[in-house]
Amino acid sequence: MSENPLQALFQTFEKVSRCVQTHLSQFIGLSNLPSPTNGQPLFSLSSSANPSRSNTNSVLLQPKDSLSEGKSTSPVTKEQLGRATWTFLHTLAAQYPDNPTRQQKKDVKELMSILSRMYPCKECADHFKEVLRSNPVQAGSQAEFSQWLCHVHNVVNRSLGKLVFHCERVDARWGKLECEQRACDLQGTTTNFGNDIH
Ligand code: FAD
Repeated sequence: MSENPLQALFQTFEKVSRCVQTHLSQFIGLSNLPSPTNGQPLFSLSSSANPSRSNTNSVLLQPKDSLSEGKSTSPVTKEQLGRATWTFLHTLAAQYPDNPTRQQKKDVKELMSILSRMYPCKECADHFKEVLRSNPVQAGSQAEFSQWLCHVHNVVNRSLGKLVFHCERVDARWGKLECEQRACDLQGTTTNFGNDIH
């Protein structure tokens, strides 16, 4: 009989994990995932996150390094880069203060300007330069900045023949970051009278 009564359950889970990995890797066409037959399932069972405190009562599910660190052997595509950048920008807009400081307003304008020069896809950067020229950054408040960003993202969407996003839904799509005690919030000014905090 097994020493640990949960052993059989863990083994079954590991088998299911391998099976899911096999089907998932076939589905998404990744051949470089760890082979389910070489003893490396997507999620491995380990007795503890800290080996020095290993004991059979603290079983944790740990994603395999290659996935948890987002490593991939193939280069990033223009589409992946775009999605990641829009995620960054819309999250920034969601976190942007209602009453930004003068410095914060200056910073987002500069960020967009730098993006239009340094975005690592030249055709995209060149196009974005034109977009910015016709749509100067509006970042007087969180609402204004997120609506402006939604609008310029739609300009890019249209140019690529994509569907236009309904900007009244932008807050539902891109909410504030969930951080304990709002530790991720950017601080703005506390008044509307232009007393910027620097
Ligand atoms: P994305 O357009 O990447 O959007 C990601 C998610 O954002 C969507 O799934 C949706 O949920 C949400 N979303 C979509 N529209 C809006 C909106 N208006 N407001 C809020 N949320 C929205 N690619 C090119 O081929 N040529 C270019 O010239 C080009 N220029 C780019 C310029 C910039 C600054 C950036 C960041 C990207 C650019 N891209 C360009 C990439 C392109 O915009 C897309 O990111 C890429 O084609 C992947 O598109 P997607 O359909 O997965 O969704």
